[in-house]
Amino acid sequence: MNKVFEEITELSLKRALFYPSAEIYGSLAGFYDYGSIGFRVKKKLEDYWRWFFLKSLGENFHEIQPSELMPEPVFKASGHLEHFEDPVVECSKCGFVERADQLLEGFLHMVFEGLSSEQLDELIKKHGLKCPECGGEFKRVFSKSLMFGFETRKGMVYLRPETAQGVFVDFKREFKANREKLPLGLAVVGKAFRNEISPRQALFRTKEFTQAELQVFFDPEDEKHEKFSTIEKEKARVVLASERDKGEQLLTAGELAGRGYFEKYVYYLFMMKKFYESLGLKELRFYEKNEEERAFYNKFHFDCEVFFKSFDSFREVAGLHYRTDYDLKNHEEHSKQSMEIFANGRKFVPHVIELSFGIDRTFFALLDKGFRKDGKRTWLSLPRQVAPFVAGVYPLVSKDGLDEKARQVYELLASEFDVFYDEKGSIGKRYARADEIGVLYGITIDYDTMKDGTVTIRDRDSTKQERVSISEIGQRIKRVFDSLYY
Ligand SMILES: [Zn+2]
Repeated sequence: MNKVFEEITELSLKRALFYPSAEIYGSLAGFYDYGSIGFRVKKKLEDYWRWFFLKSLGENFHEIQPSELMPEPVFKASGHLEHFEDPVVECSKCGFVERADQLLEGFLHMVFEGLSSEQLDELIKKHGLKCPECGGEFKRVFSKSLMFGFETRKGMVYLRPETAQGVFVDFKREFKANREKLPLGLAVVGKAFRNEISPRQALFRTKEFTQAELQVFFDPEDEKHEKFSTIEKEKARVVLASERDKGEQLLTAGELAGRGYFEKYVYYLFMMKKFYESLGLKELRFYEKNEEERAFYNKFHFDCEVFFKSFDSFREVAGLHYRTDYDLKNHEEHSKQSMEIFANGRKFVPHVIELSFGIDRTFFALLDKGFRKDGKRTWLSLPRQVAPFVAGVYPLVSKDGLDEKARQVYELLASEFDVFYDEKGSIGKRYARADEIGVLYGITIDYDTMKDGTVTIRDRDSTKQERVSISEIGQRIKRVFDSLYY
């Protein structure tokens, strides 16, 4: 974390992007609220995700909304109750706790994900690590469940740690309701909960977070994608698990398919890339997890990583997982309900590719990428899909009928666009506030407006102003959004 991170956090507090939850009570680490401006951006990001993956791809993809609380057998079947835990170290003197792998990572600047408690314990002893707070000795590394559980009269229920399980248990019903066709995509945009031991880095690791996940159910004997040829020659930066010594490589979709990742999987990897690029997040790469790092049920697992100025490094914002038939088969076994379907002339259990997006991390990536400072001016260069407002409408001064005229212009635009009206303070201050929350345009009504019916339109990024007649403003804005969604 550096100065950029601090500046973004400061701006977020000041302009109601996000801030600690229950602040008046001192707040709790790892809980954040989205404010009036931040929530607009987050909601638009979710809506754009929906448009991109559920509509523009033109496939049999739908959104559902499963319960966030689910009964114990679901998470027994999924393996979460047994395996979903973090290795933890605790100071024997002051009670300081930290994830063991991250404690080591902080000291030795290497990744220790996926090591067992015993291995981590040995490493901590070997390197003589002491409590960073008080210098005390650590107790033995132990495992702590990440699940939030609650007792009910009918047994335990748990907050979902990922949205995916709701989709797997609903699969058969949705398959029947959707013409019994494969591939079938089922998406969930919603909250998931993990009892992280050391939440930190603002929206980066929190106990409650928003995921946008898409599970694509398909016939494992049908690995081709009909649109593969449209992306075959496109390139992506990848780090392959089997060729990690080569570091980052620029490979085409065709070359990836040639290395054994099947067409459907590679196709969605490139859709993921396109999604982020269309939001201006072009400095990204796909980092493949090796066998120790990835969950054992994932046959392929690439993290989609974006470069963050705030951390001066790449960070995971999304993941692409080939989960095979692991989840459906487990639910079949535990529920005694068949997950087999009949399609393509045979009976089988479908396989699943999961596209999993961290909405909060992506939101933060947009702030990180968009944050600009130039002398005294600070602005958020948010892409138009997610800017909280299209425009602010301002009377130059609130007298001589200018305010009345400005209200008329506001009314004219408000039925079609996200605009706001502001007459308080100097025009410079109003521009400055709007710039800081990423408003695309400033529309100002001045004395010339009263004479010839024109206004100025000011561009957020260039600050250039243009005179346009009132009747043309709507068209002007529409043109910008015409090419929206790439
Ligand atoms: Zn201590």
